[in-house]
Amino acid sequence: MTQAELIDGKTFAAGLRARIGAAVADLRARHGLRPGLAVVLVGADPASQVYVRSKNRAVAEAGMQGFEHILPETTGQPALLDLVGRLNRDPAVHGILVQLPLPARIDPQAVLDAIAPAKDADGFHVINAGRLATGGAALIPCTPLGCMLLLRDRLGDLSGLEAVVVGRSNIVGKPMAQLLLAANCTVTVCHSRTRDLPAVCRRGDILIAAAGRPGMVRGDWIKPGATVIDVGINRVAQPGEPGTYRLVGDVAFDEAVAVAGAITPVPGGVGPMTIACLLANTMTAACRQAGIDPPDLGKG
Ligand code: NAD
Repeated sequence: MTQAELIDGKTFAAGLRARIGAAVADLRARHGLRPGLAVVLVGADPASQVYVRSKNRAVAEAGMQGFEHILPETTGQPALLDLVGRLNRDPAVHGILVQLPLPARIDPQAVLDAIAPAKDADGFHVINAGRLATGGAALIPCTPLGCMLLLRDRLGDLSGLEAVVVGRSNIVGKPMAQLLLAANCTVTVCHSRTRDLPAVCRRGDILIAAAGRPGMVRGDWIKPGATVIDVGINRVAQPGEPGTYRLVGDVAFDEAVAVAGAITPVPGGVGPMTIACLLANTMTAACRQAGIDPPDLGKG
């Protein structure tokens, strides 16, 4: 039985981060520009703390300047909006990221929309969503951007390919579909009300799984030879080992590997690309704010 090629996001992301580090050193030497990313965390959610710590570490490793703002759980929306306003005006801050989820009493969209679009490192602002949809110079959400880099690295020109995206969230599914459309794919977006999901998935030369449902995409949902990008990150309990968990994707990997042409593993596929693309967005934002062409980060 043939086995799908593994798309090694960990190695690709490490290469991308090294290229970003070199580009930052060049920007600092030639233009005196040091990209800066401000990360804002409200409260003490353990998973968010882990994400924020790893983002700050990656920023420092790339030679960028990190600004960490950890606010108490009791912080109100006015105080948070006030901080975002100050970061918008700070010339050393080129990118701003507000870690989600926010405490229930804060309206996340109001906070995301308060970030200056030019500094919107996550690419969640409605202006960036609109620019992405209309072919403008957007900052692109990090996870779909990472998927796109992996796809281009494996497939090159995507023109004319059938792409199926499972999931229509604002942070993954919809921007993913826009990027594939801009790359001249024929795009189908599926969601929880899609009829006969397996049959639709089988149409995809490219299949993106971003539903947050562990192992949902079975081997016989996949077109033989397709490139499968598994965005799902799901924590499932280990049978017989109470209190221990493992991470699995949205694709039944052991089945898919016998059918697909290539597939991203979980972990080690899309996940590492997300932080690398956050760094890429911060650098792009810094260059645009300084009127410099962003460097071409090329292939992995
Ligand atoms: P979400 O819950 O906001 O959206 C899920 C989407 O999947 C919805 O549009 C829904 O309609 C669709 N869906 C749900 N159940 C379905 C079903 N049974 N059949 C068809 N469609 C279904 O989730 P999200 O934020 O887009 O994240 C999706 C997954 O990607 C999650 O597992 C999340 O942890 C993961 N994720 C990974 C990264 C990363 O860095 N790799 C980043 C963001 C999200």
